[in-house]
Amino acid sequence: MQDRFIHCIANMPAPLADKLVPLLNHDFAGHIDAKQIADLATATHLPSEQLLLKLLPVAAALAKPPISEFYVGAIAKGKSGDIYMGANLELAGEALFHSVHAEQSAISHAWLSGETEIEDIIVNASPCGHCRQFMNELVAGQQINIHLPGQSAKPLSHYLPYAFGPSDLNITPPLLSKQQHEFALDSSDPMIIEALDHASLSYAPYSNSYAAVVLETKDGQTFCGRYAENAAFNPSMLPMQMALSAMARHNRDFSEINRAVLVESSQGKISLVGATMDALHTVAAIELEHIAIDPIS
Ligand SMILES: [Zn+2]
Repeated sequence: MQDRFIHCIANMPAPLADKLVPLLNHDFAGHIDAKQIADLATATHLPSEQLLLKLLPVAAALAKPPISEFYVGAIAKGKSGDIYMGANLELAGEALFHSVHAEQSAISHAWLSGETEIEDIIVNASPCGHCRQFMNELVAGQQINIHLPGQSAKPLSHYLPYAFGPSDLNITPPLLSKQQHEFALDSSDPMIIEALDHASLSYAPYSNSYAAVVLETKDGQTFCGRYAENAAFNPSMLPMQMALSAMARHNRDFSEINRAVLVESSQGKISLVGATMDALHTVAAIELEHIAIDPIS
């Protein structure tokens, strides 16, 4: 088991801890599939909602909050029945808008894993306004059930009444719906091809600045982030932050980053290059490779 989970396991009921420990192995990064969840529920005799609430300390152990030291854990439960954990990430010494919230981490984890709809969000602290707005961008967002310790589940529409959302800007395909944007790029570099694939799946209906980041560590592992825009603009999740959040879930140190690539559309209304460089230079002393790609119309 990874060291970061020792404390939360020590505070769990024994039947749950016994079943969880084998899952929290070296590779664990917050994904538990539907079959494993069913096995945990059977072994612990816990209803699904209670089980997921008890797993929140595991999600919170994925957090890296050097500024607030406030550990937030969130779990996104997909339509597939799989669960995806996420946690807050703060970049030491950098402006607060670079922060990733736990709900964003969990939702992006589900998206990068191929989920097309999230039915439940379980979180250990009341979702902030930023996250309520971020969740409102999702497929069937208003119907997502929010579960908090000590409270009955309520839909997002309860937490975000009179919502402003994509439809107010005449955008219909929501976040997590199938995106497939085509770009022309002639490259045989596997990392650039990977970034291109993710950029084609990114969600940028407001700026058309489809983009993705791929980070490579010294051992050749890659971590990806796609751009996820929001109708209220500021709660958008930048691809660099999404990739860093994936690294944090995998318990990888940012000093291990060896190479960083940003691929973005040449025809978007904005560019993410400045914001991406700022975040990268805070965590690693390497230069960003920036590649503009032309849409195929
Ligand atoms: Zn939040």
